[in-house]
Amino acid sequence: MVKQYAVIGLGRFGSSVAARLYESGQEVLGVDVNIERVEESNEFVTHAVIADSTDPESLKAIGIRNFDTVIVAIGNDIQASILSVLLLKELGVKKVIAKALNNLHGQVLEKVGADWVIFPERDMGIRVAHQLLSPNVLNF
Ligand code: ATP
Repeated sequence: MVKQYAVIGLGRFGSSVAARLYESGQEVLGVDVNIERVEESNEFVTHAVIADSTDPESLKAIGIRNFDTVIVAIGNDIQASILSVLLLKELGVKKVIAKALNNLHGQVLEKVGADWVIFPERDMGIRVAHQLLSPNVLNF
């Protein structure tokens, strides 16, 4: 079943999520404030737009509440990340996934309504350790 996803922030993390969803046949809208990031993303998203996710009018203009899931892949600008999640939930987006830089950032994202908080470095570290400890992995 094809679903509609929006990925806000097209850095390494956001681009990688967007590209994988797009390759799997899903509809993906890429959103970034940076025009170069938006242009570069054209190959791996269905549509890409320049917009600031901390501006409620911009979010409304792109019809953000019609998306099944919105991924907030902004990390370094913690304020923008938190404000974006808050606005998305206030606008009625059902599922909001957000990337956190650290535990405190993650806690605030949960408080403002994020449905799933991801810690890319921590989660990847755990995965690597699991792979190393798995008896099925012979090559490490
Ligand atoms: P990554 O670690 O995924 O490579 P990064 O190092 O490029 O990310 P981040 O600060 O996490 O840096 O930003 C990810 C993307 O989010 C950038 O392309 C940035 O332009 C975009 N971005 C930042 N603030 C906003 C905003 N308010 N609205 C939309 N996009 C934003």
